[in-house]
Amino acid sequence: MTDIEKKPDRAPVPKEWTYAPAPESRDVVRLQERYGHFIAGEWVEPSDTYATISPASEETLATVGQGTQEDVDRAVAAARDAYANGWSSLPGSERAKYLFRIARILQERSREFAVLESLNGGKPIKESRDVDLPLAAAHFFYYAGWADKLEYAFPNRLPKPVGVAGQIIPWNFPLLMLAWKLAPALACGNTVVLKPAETTPLTALLFCDVLRQAELPPGVVNIVTGDGRTGAALVDHDGVDKIAFTGSTEVGKAIQRQLAGTGKKLTLELGGKAANIVFDDCALDQAVEGIVNGIYFNQGHVCCAGSRLFAQESIYEPLVEKLKRRLETLRVGDPLDKNTDVGAINSKMQLDRITELVEAGKEEGAEIYQPPCRLPEKGYWFVPTVFTNVAQSYRIAQEEIFGPVLSVLTFRTPEEAVEKANNTPYGLSAGVWTEKGSRILWMAQRLRAGVVWANTFNRFDPTSPFGGYKESGFGREGGRHGLEPYLRFEE
Ligand code: NDP
Repeated sequence: MTDIEKKPDRAPVPKEWTYAPAPESRDVVRLQERYGHFIAGEWVEPSDTYATISPASEETLATVGQGTQEDVDRAVAAARDAYANGWSSLPGSERAKYLFRIARILQERSREFAVLESLNGGKPIKESRDVDLPLAAAHFFYYAGWADKLEYAFPNRLPKPVGVAGQIIPWNFPLLMLAWKLAPALACGNTVVLKPAETTPLTALLFCDVLRQAELPPGVVNIVTGDGRTGAALVDHDGVDKIAFTGSTEVGKAIQRQLAGTGKKLTLELGGKAANIVFDDCALDQAVEGIVNGIYFNQGHVCCAGSRLFAQESIYEPLVEKLKRRLETLRVGDPLDKNTDVGAINSKMQLDRITELVEAGKEEGAEIYQPPCRLPEKGYWFVPTVFTNVAQSYRIAQEEIFGPVLSVLTFRTPEEAVEKANNTPYGLSAGVWTEKGSRILWMAQRLRAGVVWANTFNRFDPTSPFGGYKESGFGREGGRHGLEPYLRFEE
């Protein structure tokens, strides 16, 4: 026993922690050089095409179709045919089987989808792997469960499908938004024509492979790629009974004008400028993590991002100091590196928009903080940014930046916090950080926001309805509420 060497009291502590690169392999994804539109279960050769790139490297990943009026006509006709000849009259329990199958296949192929999502959209692999993919599968599972229970969800109201749904989705959560749109529509017995965003079509196109694997009848889901012109053709199409749109408030308003008087059903999930409200009795370190998650998750390309931080004056200084220190530890870079916290900005256009608004913030007099950060030479990047000394009237406090940029404002009383938080044309989400349960309820009743998170932020669940007030849109996605836009009632 005496021979045993005594261990030193303390292990040496390294002076600096660095991360070795931990890249996720791209080999799991097999890209085609060229993709067409997916109509009636077949690939249709496009008459016009464009290149889709990786925003992290600017390399071309594939050529995809720019959908024309004829492509949209064909897709809507295929959806109508599938609706009338089988899908809408299929028993709910049969429709559920397809949705369960799709969910299971997504789980099985989740690594492939996660890599492709990060490649085409720029988001960190740990987010696409741990958030986008599990949630997308969960949405199909959840709505599969409702497909044969619609009469119980809406008792005495005789729910029936609406018909053909035109669905237009954005580039911030490409596959997840596809799941949010398709799962309730199919569960209710509708057929669909979906247009992915121009910059992120690849996971939607890979998803067509899942539809084939699941042996979904041809024409039930049709995917036409292209830019806003393709979206506008879909909105305008006489053969479409319902439009579901997620994107900017500007385009949402244009769609609402276009559809006025047509009798088509419409749901809009638009922009936001969420208030994340931090009281001085909160768990401060936990709140800092929530603030970081609220605005730097997915590079801030999140409609419900906590882009306005309201700090109670009594904790303003320690909070901002902790926040700045935390920012220094964020790793910005290769989306496919498992260590990366903040990936690439989705497009040059979006980078220009963020840059313009940040310049406006500086000019208007706000104080900018950006941690030291080495950005890759190629691709589109933006350093995580915090603005302090922000006035309510500044553009950075009013407009949706949709990037990793936080505006910090202050308040003294709960009443003032509510008033300032609600002083926005938007109303999608809000966050409250406090130890007091009664204050959480008091705030939640007064905040004009579709979702209010308490002591957390950016939590999503298929069972929980999501949607906005005011210019953030109308209609709910998720939960039992998410079925309603895809049903008509024969009362
Ligand atoms: P858009 O609203 O233009 O894009 C959303 C979707 O609508 C895309 O598929 C788009 O196609 C399509 N679209 C564009 N114009 C029309 C039209 N006239 N009729 C029908 N569909 C159309 O958003 P952007 O990508 O231009 O982003 C601009 C700003 O919008 C961002 O900076 C951000 O502030 C906000 N935004 C908000 C989102 C949210 O979830 N709330 C999501 C995305 C953006 P295409 O991809 O070709 O443009």
